[in-house]
Amino acid sequence: MGARSGNNFLSSLKKLGAEVWLGGNRVGDVTAHPAFANVARSVASLYDLQMEHPESMTFRTDDGGRAGMSFIIPKSVEDVRKRTRMMKQWADFGCGMLGRTPDYLNVSIAAMAAARDFFAESDPRHGDNIWNYYLQARHHDWCATHTLVNPRASRTAGWAGHTDAELALRLVEKTNDGIVVNGCRMLATLAPLAEELLVFPSTVLKAEPAAEPLALSFATACNAKGLKFICRDTYDAGRSRFDNPLSSRFDEMDAVVVFDNVLVPWERVFLCGDVARCNALYAATGAVVHMMHQVAVKNVAKSEFLLGLAARIAESSDAMSLPHVRERLAEMITTTETMRACLRAAEADAAADRWGVFTPARAPLDTARNLFPKLYPRMVEIIQLNSSSSLMATPAESDFKNPAERADIEKYFAAADSDARERVALYRLAWEVACSSFGGRQVLYERFFFGDPVRMASALVDSTDLKPLVERVKAFLKRPD
Ligand SMILES: Cc1cc2nc3c(=O)[nH]c(=O)nc-3n(C[C@H](O)[C@H](O)[C@H](O)COP(=O)(O)OP(=O)(O)OC[C@H]3O[C@@H](n4cnc5c(N)ncnc54)[C@H](O)[C@@H]3O)c2cc1C
Repeated sequence: MGARSGNNFLSSLKKLGAEVWLGGNRVGDVTAHPAFANVARSVASLYDLQMEHPESMTFRTDDGGRAGMSFIIPKSVEDVRKRTRMMKQWADFGCGMLGRTPDYLNVSIAAMAAARDFFAESDPRHGDNIWNYYLQARHHDWCATHTLVNPRASRTAGWAGHTDAELALRLVEKTNDGIVVNGCRMLATLAPLAEELLVFPSTVLKAEPAAEPLALSFATACNAKGLKFICRDTYDAGRSRFDNPLSSRFDEMDAVVVFDNVLVPWERVFLCGDVARCNALYAATGAVVHMMHQVAVKNVAKSEFLLGLAARIAESSDAMSLPHVRERLAEMITTTETMRACLRAAEADAAADRWGVFTPARAPLDTARNLFPKLYPRMVEIIQLNSSSSLMATPAESDFKNPAERADIEKYFAAADSDARERVALYRLAWEVACSSFGGRQVLYERFFFGDPVRMASALVDSTDLKPLVERVKAFLKRPD
């Protein structure tokens, strides 16, 4: 098949029937359920974009078909740039608020497939499995979710990534048909909308035999027997696009994943029991860098959207000349430009990795992923500071329709350059970004989705060659005059 349409995605999801739980009830058809139907349509629109712009959003595969551009295994800087342009179209469609557009995992599957020898060194079948899985995922243009972190009941287990063995997802037995796994994994964003669940290693397993049953990397269909997704509350209140412009479109949902003796067929197992290789997987295959590439594109789209929102608020409230408003806008411009610069530097310095895959430069992407968790909450704070009580002057669409209120709303809610309806729509959008549960989850997402920020910072120290800089300081201190 190759690159798919939105309708193809929706009909596949409708048939899937994964075990999804929300608010004490099992969800039947997610494509028709009020908590998921809107975001399902948004994801479908992403696939439709591929159909509408095949030249820029798909590429020709060896078998003559066309696949989604996020499945490309880049062979040149231009391939990396093409992928950026495609991912930017998806990120802009979701205003940066859909973190888990399917490209997030597609790029990592492509990177792992290109590094098939890494898996084959553990077991030759695993190398074939990851490659064949890539071909299938690309052929079906699957929408996937993933889960990395095991749950922990107490801090004695150590840093994020360490684990309470009795709660963690673990190997129960190997059978002729595959492996049986049991336990739980913390969050899988987009899970109710996904057809496939990718389970990758919880990054830092202790190098000891007791960790071997936890050392797993595999893929399972989301409707596998025994697999259960337990969702948080929905933030899509079922209101109009006017009332909730973001959550009525982009509430991508997060779920905890329970595995009740799930059988994973052998052909979907990529690593099993190989602790060292599990710990090395993300870095050694380059998958983490390709995922950072998608994240950097999303950061640009999201910063641009918030900057545009802040600028429109300044314009509409006639505050563009106020020094403190200008200072805050300048801060948002520097955030946006920093994200653009990181992305551009990563592309410009892309080079072939040991698997022959053109990979964006890691240092600028690492910079972006360490900065954005701090910069995004500040952008949100600026929207609050520059909006103030206007965030409360936000009657609903139904108020505009009520003749008893309409004349007052039209008179008192207008702004310098916009009528009441435009002004209220603007601040309802600002509310969703800066104050709503949808907006709060976005801030939490940016703080944590790529991992514990303290350990991300520590990884940055490890991956940076500080020695030459230290030597320069030492040399300076020894300079005689
Ligand atoms: C909205 C959202 C979506 C997500 N989506 C996904 C997803 O799709 N797939 C996925 O795999 N994961 C997902 N995650 C989970 C993400 O991977 C984790 O949140 C992240 O790895 C941090 O782990 P944790 O939440 O268990 O944090 P915790 O380990 O509970 O850490 C919380 C805080 O405590 C600190 N801390 C932890 N241990 C120690 C210690 N021993 N000493 C000192 N300080 C410590 C940390 O630095 C951190 O500040 C998502 C998270 C969020 C919030």
